[in-house]
Order: sequence, then C-alpha cells, then structure tokens
Amino acid sequence: MAEITNGDPVLRLSDIGKSFDGVTVLDGVSLEVPRGSFVALTGPSGAGKSTLLRLVNGMHLPDRGTVSTLGENPAACSRARLRALRARVGFVFQQFGLVGRLSAMENVLMGALATLRLPRYGVMSYPRALRARAVEQLDRVGLADQRFQRCDTLSGGQQQRVAVARTLLQGPELILADEPVASLDPAASVLVLDTLKRISAEDGISVLCSLHQVELALSTADRVVALRGGRLVLDEPARDLTAARLRTIY
Ligand code: ADP
Ligand code: MG
Repeated sequence: MAEITNGDPVLRLSDIGKSFDGVTVLDGVSLEVPRGSFVALTGPSGAGKSTLLRLVNGMHLPDRGTVSTLGENPAACSRARLRALRARVGFVFQQFGLVGRLSAMENVLMGALATLRLPRYGVMSYPRALRARAVEQLDRVGLADQRFQRCDTLSGGQQQRVAVARTLLQGPELILADEPVASLDPAASVLVLDTLKRISAEDGISVLCSLHQVELALSTADRVVALRGGRLVLDEPARDLTAARLRTIY
C-alpha cells in the first residue's frame, strides 16, 4: 500500500470530469485536502458536491482526471483493495443512516463491521474491548448516557452525533460528510460541527464536509472550497474569507 508522508495531502483530485447521461456535473475540478485539515465544500444545490464526495471513495468513478485518496486511486483498485480503502474513509450522511429501532450503542458498533466480520445479534455478541471502545466514542460525542436508547427516540442532533461516533469506531483517516447538518436546527448544527471538528483534531483525522450555510463553513473549516455548476470557483483559507464574499458564489 502506498505510504503517506506528512506532507502529502490525504486527498488529491486532479482535473476531474464527470457527467451523467451526457449532462456535465463536474468539470475540471482540482482539489487537495491537506492531512489533518477540515475543508468545507460549499456551493448551491446541484453544484456537484455530493457527486464529488462519492468520487473520493469510489462510489462514482470519474470520466476524466484522477482521484488519489490516502494514496490510492479508486478507479485502479481491485474490489478487495477498494473495500480496504473504504474502511479508512468514514462517511456521514445528511439523513444519519442509522437503524432507528436499534440502540445508539448497537448503531455505533456497526462502525466496526467495515473492518471486522462479526455476528450481529445484539450488543453482547460484540467483543468486550469493542463494546468499551463504542462507549468511549459515545462519551466523546456526549451521548454515553443515551447508549441504550433507541435511535428513533433521539433528537436529530443526537442521532447525527451517534453517526459520528459510529464513524469514529471505524478508525478513519479521512471523514467525508455530506450536508451533515442540513436537517438540523441551528443550535444542533453548531454542536454537531463543533463535535466533529474537536474530535477530528484530537485524532488527526482529515475532514471534507459539504455545507450550504456559509457562516457554518467559515466558523468550522480551516479551508473553504466552493463549487458552482460543477466548477471549482473558490479555494481559500477560511480566515481570508467573509460571509458576504462567500455568498456571492450562490
Ligand atoms: P449537490 O450535492 O451539490 O446538490 P449533486 O452532486 O447531488 O449536487 O448533483 C449535481 C448534479 O448531478 C445534479 O444536477 C443532479 O441531478 C445530477 N446527478 C447527481 N447524481 C446523479 C446520478 N446518479 N444520475 C444522474 N444525475 C445525477
Ligand atoms: Mg448534495
């Protein structure tokens, strides 16, 4: 497996083109995510944000250009190698992707299924050390006390923090988050993003997170990139940007 030295970005997209049914969705997109950074991917609905995120772990393949994720090119990976790569890349979705009738703890434990083949007959069927790690991750997102609660009884913000804990159990080097706070109220949005930011910094995890609220992108990210109509129209450190300027791309 390709080794990554400290200076190499965890993700490099070079001149990516992607179309669906003859309609161009990404056009000449080049982008790097430096190791350990939190990059916000902004841009209006339909700009190509979700498509870009799906290219990173090989859920889509580009029509042209190359993707290098943690030193691997998903388009050139065998199925086994792609599975190994995906185990190193966490994914957080707008709709959480939890099993509502299962407890927070059971959902977090599912994060281990990316790397381990395990039975799934309730919490007690998982090894004790893994259960301890699941509680630890729930504690880090502030939900250790809710671990036996069914996920469909938790608030949206709590559910998304369970999803973050599940991703953390996987031990990812890179987390992709696709509009993780789009269905949350403002206070829950800030809490989820602060949690993701704090823990990724503690663990040295890089994050590429699509966000359509410019204020949240500026307050959370180290770097902000923006897509419009499938083209990259902005790529700057957050500290050099203002909300007014970022809003002009919408
Ligand atoms: P965003 O996440 O920024 O809203 P998307 O990447 O979801 O944008 O979509 C960009 C464009 O690509 C949209 O016009 C969408 O309809 C189209 N698109 C996305 N995925 C597919 C697909 N699997 N098949 C056809 N069109 C798609
Ligand atoms: Mg999207």
